[in-house]
Amino acid sequence: MIQVAINGYGTIGKRVADAVREQPDMEVLGVAKTRPNFEAETAVKKGYPLYAAIEERADWFAEAGLEIAGPVEDLVERADIVVDATPSGIGAENKSLYEEYDTPALYQGGEDADLVDASFNARSNFEAATGAQHVRVVSCNTTGLSRVIAPLQEAYGVEKVRATLVRRGGDPGQTSRGPINDILPDPVTIPSHHGPDVETIFPDLDIDTLGMKVPATLMHMHSLNVTLESAVDAADIRERFADESRLFLIPEAMSIDGSGKLKEYAHDAGRPRGDLWENCIWEESISTVGRDCYLFQGIHQESDVVPENVDAIRAVLGAADATESIETTNEHIGIDF
Ligand code: NAD
Repeated sequence: MIQVAINGYGTIGKRVADAVREQPDMEVLGVAKTRPNFEAETAVKKGYPLYAAIEERADWFAEAGLEIAGPVEDLVERADIVVDATPSGIGAENKSLYEEYDTPALYQGGEDADLVDASFNARSNFEAATGAQHVRVVSCNTTGLSRVIAPLQEAYGVEKVRATLVRRGGDPGQTSRGPINDILPDPVTIPSHHGPDVETIFPDLDIDTLGMKVPATLMHMHSLNVTLESAVDAADIRERFADESRLFLIPEAMSIDGSGKLKEYAHDAGRPRGDLWENCIWEESISTVGRDCYLFQGIHQESDVVPENVDAIRAVLGAADATESIETTNEHIGIDF
């Protein structure tokens, strides 16, 4: 059993912990937090050993009635791998800790690409992480774009990608984020940083991205235009995408008109936390005009990177190949849309 430590138990960390727990070849050795809060409380209730990310604050947990298993150093030392899911920039600060104990580490999309040996997306470059000591699971948006670009590139060749990312202002729990009543070009400079991030997965890709931020919390929305190397029928692309396990083609008959109903569907289907691990592509939006393919996709920022973290664990440790890992992860998380 692969012993997995999770350092940073927030939006991403708590979901990765639950996904790891479901896998037949992995165990959650423990989770580390900086302070006691509702997430620390539920971590303990779920039976995850709780470690203090900042040793001097161990008393805070005791005062909140939460038992601490030890300092984060103990957890890192005993783990086969650490998933760092701390806020952007903190992962970089933690790197020396993982190096000190020679424990391989996964970081998240908020960290710089040059922090790590490889950036990772299971569908696109699984092998790049094998044997690496420091790997970054790319951001929710880069994950969403990579999952679509990989099959298009393999089947038809991609000349150019143009994507407009309409991004949620903050996650549902991020009460300090915004905008509350505005539409922001964000970043206002064009192209946005998202394109170069996708190039960490596809180094030879020609991609331009534009970003916006809107008063929404549920999901991001991508408007995508991919110029292919030859003219392709939209029906052919739909068929190909239907074979991709992490692309959910929303059937027209479902009458899902946006992120709200998508999340409602996920809740109705019994998904934990209403998570949508797949890209949610409106099937009828997949269109072609000559060599140009167009589509709209919803990206659930809180959860699409979760199966990718599970796969990255196996990739780094050489525990499975891409196909085997993706199938195992999908089956045990319950990716079935
Ligand atoms: P979050 O704020 O929800 O969770 C981070 C957790 O780490 C919090 O519990 C925080 O208290 C804890 N923490 C802070 N400093 C720490 C330290 N020194 N040691 C241990 N824990 C510490 O953040 P998040 O949204 O889960 O983001 C984590 C990473 O994932 C970031 O790199 C982010 O860019 C990336 N990411 C976030 C999203 C998203 O939409 N939320 C999507 C994809 C990737």
